[in-house]
Amino acid sequence: MSEIKKMYIRGEWVEAESGETLEVFNPATGECVGVVSYGDERDAKKAIDAAHEAFKEWSRLPGRQRSKYLTKLYGLVMKHRNELAELMSAEMGKPFGEAKFEAVGSADNFLWYAEEAKRIYGETIPSYDGNKRLMAIKQPVGVVAAITPWNFPVNMVARKIAPALAAGCTVVLKPAMESPLSAVRLFELMEEAGFPKGVVNLVLAKAEKFGDEVLQNRKVAKITFTGSTAVGKHLMEGAAKQVKRISMELGGHAPFIVFEDADLDAAVAGFFESKFRNSGQMCISTNRLYVHESVVDAFTEKLVARLKKTKVGDGRQKGVEIGPLVDEEALNGVMEHIRDAKEKGGRVIFGGNRLTEGEYSKGFFLEPTVITHVTPDMKITYEETFGPVVPIIPFKEEEAVLEMANDTRYGLAAYCYTKDNSRCFRVAESLEYGIIGVNDGTPTQTQAPFGGLKESGLGREGGRYAMESFLETKFISMSI
Ligand code: ADP
Repeated sequence: MSEIKKMYIRGEWVEAESGETLEVFNPATGECVGVVSYGDERDAKKAIDAAHEAFKEWSRLPGRQRSKYLTKLYGLVMKHRNELAELMSAEMGKPFGEAKFEAVGSADNFLWYAEEAKRIYGETIPSYDGNKRLMAIKQPVGVVAAITPWNFPVNMVARKIAPALAAGCTVVLKPAMESPLSAVRLFELMEEAGFPKGVVNLVLAKAEKFGDEVLQNRKVAKITFTGSTAVGKHLMEGAAKQVKRISMELGGHAPFIVFEDADLDAAVAGFFESKFRNSGQMCISTNRLYVHESVVDAFTEKLVARLKKTKVGDGRQKGVEIGPLVDEEALNGVMEHIRDAKEKGGRVIFGGNRLTEGEYSKGFFLEPTVITHVTPDMKITYEETFGPVVPIIPFKEEEAVLEMANDTRYGLAAYCYTKDNSRCFRVAESLEYGIIGVNDGTPTQTQAPFGGLKESGLGREGGRYAMESFLETKFISMSI
């Protein structure tokens, strides 16, 4: 049995109070790739206490000093990027190249927010009264509980922790228990970076027990969460009882619109990225592909040609572009969407099956799948499909396609391809989504806002927007 990976609380590596452990499996091979401590509310409480005690000093440290720790962490993450990438591939299956890109992106978050820690500006406000001086200052919100999903096991952590620490908050993180190993490694690097005890804490625990403790513990000022809309709503409801601050990155159902004047090769390339990266397991993954009827055949042909060249397999193998789905439940969920579409008249023109032979026999692999003759009653058109499945829907008019694209309770990401500049702006402004890729299938960047409208979330990560979300505004009025 491999070494049991522990939690990091108050600067110490500790086992679960309960003594329980959990095995982590590679979804490509079924092999056990690690064992971690698996705690509950008791461990959460210990970590919250530690973060609460550390907050006083950390929040008072000048931003420039907090910046130094984050810069050091940036260097360490860059140095160990291959190792972090290998862990990600092993524990949740993503292709190594994507995992490495993620590790580098995470490092960039630490560097970017290291800079931002020095730029927490307030404001002076002109008074009505000559004897008064008015100021607004920014202060960290307090102890932050961060809850992250398995699909970006390192970057989700970095995106939350980096701005929180830069703002002067202390953090208790619970990563997804499908993929905790890379988070543990990241915390080892944080230990090496020398953060003071209690500033960053890692809890590996049962989700609900952790969530309940976070919701009822008055020492937690803010919850930052990425995951399903259902769990997000539960946390929002719970957080309301103490008016805890919240940031929510929830589900999506991204439309991807290809207009008649689009560069089809660029559109297929952009679409491939938006749909098949991470095996389609991203909240910004395309879920509905709308193609103008005059180019739908040509687009489909090019897409199918691209998919024929795409290798599905263990993310650690060279040349693999699509890895397995994260577990059996995830695979079954996607298969159910394919079954439902077929039953309602959808035609699978490419893929559609679980891969089970030879190298695929022990993993959760699905062929990239393209479905035509899609109708609005099919689940794929309104429930998030977290997998490599493409429903193609032809359209005639711009107005009609925008109406279809916006007809969802989600509002995270949307994409459009067109060469018409006026239409670029018209469509981008009409799409009811928080992130719009215009001739761009990969619209996320460290310095840019990331977040959703409607039921896709609340608040923004990324750039200076994330800093805001970890700061309170305090007003000071002084008579002189
Ligand atoms: P996904 O479908 O991506 O697994 P979830 O919303 O179930 O999305 O999980 C995202 C994160 O939320 C994971 O870290 C998971 O353990 C955690 N989580 C799930 N349920 C709860 C809960 N009741 N309270 C707190 N965290 C939870």
